[in-house]
Amino acid sequence: MTSVAAVLTAARARLPASEARLLLGHVLGRPTAWLIAHDNEMLDEAALLGFASLVARRASGEPVAYLVGHREFFGREFAVSPAVLIPRPETELLVEIALARVGADGTAITAGRILDLGTGSGCIAVTLALEIPQAQVSALDASVAALTVARSNAEEHGAQLRLLQSDWFAALDDERFDLIVANPPYVAAADPHLAAGDLRHEPLAALASGEDGLDAIRRIIAAAPAHLAANNGQLWLEHGYDQAEAVRALLAAAGFSGIEHYRDLAGIVRVSGGRLR
Ligand code: GLN
Repeated sequence: MTSVAAVLTAARARLPASEARLLLGHVLGRPTAWLIAHDNEMLDEAALLGFASLVARRASGEPVAYLVGHREFFGREFAVSPAVLIPRPETELLVEIALARVGADGTAITAGRILDLGTGSGCIAVTLALEIPQAQVSALDASVAALTVARSNAEEHGAQLRLLQSDWFAALDDERFDLIVANPPYVAAADPHLAAGDLRHEPLAALASGEDGLDAIRRIIAAAPAHLAANNGQLWLEHGYDQAEAVRALLAAAGFSGIEHYRDLAGIVRVSGGRLR
């Protein structure tokens, strides 16, 4: 027989303590706070084997979020699978900007038709639907497997979302929105990060986008004006650490004004956007 404390100590040779706690909590169906209060609890054989298997998988590189099946985003838990990008803290910036834009300032969006392009787990769209109850939120993705994950997250959180399978705007005819947001793929195809760490296990189509990483962003910006309210329709995009100037130029060329850039918590210019007149 082995205690919670003993297995966590042993796992520390291979994993950070915080990751070991998340994995053991998952095996036991307990929050990590429970582990701390019950470190003398004895584990049965099934729990020991289950934990050993997850530690081995994590040590060989599988992301913790895929092993436990969820990740926190904007204060809520979202189901994830290898069909979707794992929600990242920097993407909360995009949500904060969207929320500020529907706020009570001069740029406020009144009608609140919102579209999330490439929704993946649905973390952005579900969060916006819950934080802005009067908005009508649509979310699309090219991947049916991703839409299944997004649907279960919407149901789990009681969010009203319209989900569409679509290659960017392809399935939308001439529909227009007040606010379009996207965390599109934006990593350069030859970027060595794609072959390292957790990124190796995430869907490549959600990460990589052509030689300079801007293929998806170019398509989105070029097509967005036809899908935005002519009066103050706004587009906000997450992008790579070195893409702000390119994104500004693309937005300006497509007729956007009021172009702004925002820095993430790491100080990197991470979200850019603007509005149609
Ligand atoms: N920020 C992610 C990363 O570099 C990329 C996400 C994306 O391409 N949308 O890990």
